[in-house]
Amino acid sequence: MNWTFRSLLGRPALVCAECAPEEGESAVEKHGIDAALKRVGRRISSDDYDKIVTFAQYEIEDNGCFSLSTWRRVLVDNSAADVSDQQWARSLLGHGGHIERANAWTHIAGAALYLIYICVRPLTPQGETESLSGKLAYFALSSYVATFMISAAYHVYSANYVMSAIFRLADYAGIYLSISAGMLSDLSLVSRSLSLASWQAIADVWIAMAILVAFFVYRRALLPIHKTRRPYMAQKCGLGLARSTNVDLEHSGFRAAAGLTMSLGWVLLIPGAFSALELDCAWFFAGSRFAGTGLLILGMFWDNVLLYPDSYRFDKSAPPGFLTCTRGCGCIFTSHAIWHLVATAAIVATTVGSEYVLAHSARL
Ligand SMILES: [Zn+2]
Repeated sequence: MNWTFRSLLGRPALVCAECAPEEGESAVEKHGIDAALKRVGRRISSDDYDKIVTFAQYEIEDNGCFSLSTWRRVLVDNSAADVSDQQWARSLLGHGGHIERANAWTHIAGAALYLIYICVRPLTPQGETESLSGKLAYFALSSYVATFMISAAYHVYSANYVMSAIFRLADYAGIYLSISAGMLSDLSLVSRSLSLASWQAIADVWIAMAILVAFFVYRRALLPIHKTRRPYMAQKCGLGLARSTNVDLEHSGFRAAAGLTMSLGWVLLIPGAFSALELDCAWFFAGSRFAGTGLLILGMFWDNVLLYPDSYRFDKSAPPGFLTCTRGCGCIFTSHAIWHLVATAAIVATTVGSEYVLAHSARL
């Protein structure tokens, strides 16, 4: 295949590869949507059936959180999907593939990376630190493992009608937990194990987290799922790229602004770093956060603006080979899976900065 990265970027295209949509009553029956809603005390009236659109290669019957078949079909083998051999042959996912597979595995890899690090950390200089900052570092690292695993579960359950809505709340709650735990650990590093910090500085981000979680849980309780779960990339359904996703609608601005404000909390800690820490530690602390935030913004730009490769010409005549694993693993590295890798790199960058301070500072 004769293509270059530059030539691909020059040709975003509306690829039309539709497949027969599953809509209305047949989609509701086929994927057990009525039964799944009943399990959580909800119902959908038959008047709203026409608002349900699902994709055979994506949607998996919702059997609640103990459904091993959802995990198996997303993570390993989706051959049970009601897709013809002809349609599998057209799909970039390959036979038995699922578009959430790369998303879920990239998060599981992040969790494994941090879990291994937590296990070997006692052998490192920073792992020997007895201070409160050392303990809070463990708390932050453990919260990253939890967040990666919750996010992996969110991507698995994205294929279920009801579970996707519930786990989206859990996914964001996990992200806020990581930011808050990371912020507490950061604050401790720049305030001599919190001895110089006011209670407001400690409580601030946790209060923000509580407000955000409460708001979005309340919103979820009020809104029926058919109002928030939307088809995405439906025009590329034949390539296996179509998916259903829950959206924040008019609250998207609040979600994005609150998340960005929380992730930039470290900016307020920079003066503290330069007054409380040794100069090399302060520079490492600040530099690693600049690098981490830069990577985060790059990843968000990639996944929300550039949308490579999802929005570009991406078919069997010109596949970006390094992003597809059609045979064997049934994966496509969509812009979202790439975002996962970049976000993991961003977390690693900030972790390196924190660990350097713990290992080298005599003022904790
Ligand atoms: Zn994700």
